[in-house]
Amino acid sequence: MEQVLADADGCSALLEEYGSPVNLLDLAALRRNAEELAEAARRHGVDLLIQVARKANKALAVVDAARELGLGIDVGGQDELLQVLGRGVDPRRVVLTAAVKPISLLRLCLEHDVLCALDNLDEAEELSGLARQQGVRARVALRIAPDPDSGLPPSRFGLLAEQWLQWLAGAPAVEVEGIHFHLHGYAALDRVTMLGRALVLVDELRARGHHPSNIDIGGGVPMSYLDDGQQWQDFWTAHHAALETGQPITWRGHPLSNVYPYHQAPVRGVWLDEVLGAGLLGGSVAEQLRGRGLQLRCEPGRAMLDGCGMTLARVVMRKQTSDGLDLVGLEMNRTQCRSTSDDFMVDPLLARPGTAGAPSDPVEAWLVGAYCIEAELILQRRIAFPDGVAVGDVIALPNTGGYLMHILESASHQMPLARNLVRGTDGGFRLDAIDLGGT
Ligand SMILES: *Cc1c(COP(=O)(O)O)cnc(C)c1O
Repeated sequence: MEQVLADADGCSALLEEYGSPVNLLDLAALRRNAEELAEAARRHGVDLLIQVARKANKALAVVDAARELGLGIDVGGQDELLQVLGRGVDPRRVVLTAAVKPISLLRLCLEHDVLCALDNLDEAEELSGLARQQGVRARVALRIAPDPDSGLPPSRFGLLAEQWLQWLAGAPAVEVEGIHFHLHGYAALDRVTMLGRALVLVDELRARGHHPSNIDIGGGVPMSYLDDGQQWQDFWTAHHAALETGQPITWRGHPLSNVYPYHQAPVRGVWLDEVLGAGLLGGSVAEQLRGRGLQLRCEPGRAMLDGCGMTLARVVMRKQTSDGLDLVGLEMNRTQCRSTSDDFMVDPLLARPGTAGAPSDPVEAWLVGAYCIEAELILQRRIAFPDGVAVGDVIALPNTGGYLMHILESASHQMPLARNLVRGTDGGFRLDAIDLGGT
């Protein structure tokens, strides 16, 4: 990202050619991110299959990079599934976890013999019925929800283990290959609690003649956007103090009550190490998995895309609100750098190309976007521009590869979605295949 930004004219040229904003991708960091998890599993003698969560970034470069590293993919819908198969990912390394599965999707899953993580009895019955018609057995994982007495928050996803056992008693046309869960949040201990329930379910299933061979702990592997925890602490101190004085540093005093932990520890390998080393059922998690000959699977999205993407946008105007707040207008909208978090908390960077106009004096301003809404903020935080800001400046939002680019992007006002460019080995950027018509 620093290399790209060092060439401000090159950044500006990308915006000229492909429009603003533009998403840049370089999947080199995927290897490092995946290797951290793989190494932790090796240390514990646990067989691990990483399945990158496709929904975290739509670029097909992600699928290609994952396939080349021998990773699997977690897909959440029909197009995601077809694209992944079209790119040559081994169907044995694909898992369908779509929250809602229409019959056409279940049919596809069966046709390609892809593992289906079952969420509810309606889709389970539908899939079993289709399999029976075709004289085959569907490959399934049972998605389990936390037991009410587990201490974990309730979930809309999955069913209680007990409900799955009851359903299986009716001898559906499925092969239970695994147990699956995906939890809200990032706590290692919550995964340990659910692993405990999944292990017991494996034993119960085996006693009934089933042959589950893996447990999938879903996503939520944590990552940290900031290296420096002090910056994170300092921000909150300043934010809360500013709210109290009535001079907020967020837009109209936005509280930022729901944000991703942009600094956290442990992450990735150390976090998985904590999960596998935790005590459970009279041994460690790793011992319990090894002892039953179970493969561990996971579906990390965000943590795998750490360091893989950056969004660039052009400054088109500067002005003040009617009450004197400074604004910097970007040629983009807020859905183009947005997740379920209230704000993207990484500071933007400024690159000034030769073509930029005359810069303003140093200023502190809010970045606003193109949608016709008062609160159309790219970032909720007031941003300092120590070198002023000019029309034609390039604003970079770093590390947006996981979710920020795509999960909520919209083409409202009929403004086109951002193009996605992938960095080649020669350092140049080319359109990702997703922008060239799909597969
Ligand atoms: C979203 C999701 C993931 C990925 O979650 P991350 O927090 O990006 O790791 C994995 N599995 C399922 C079922 C999901 O819904």
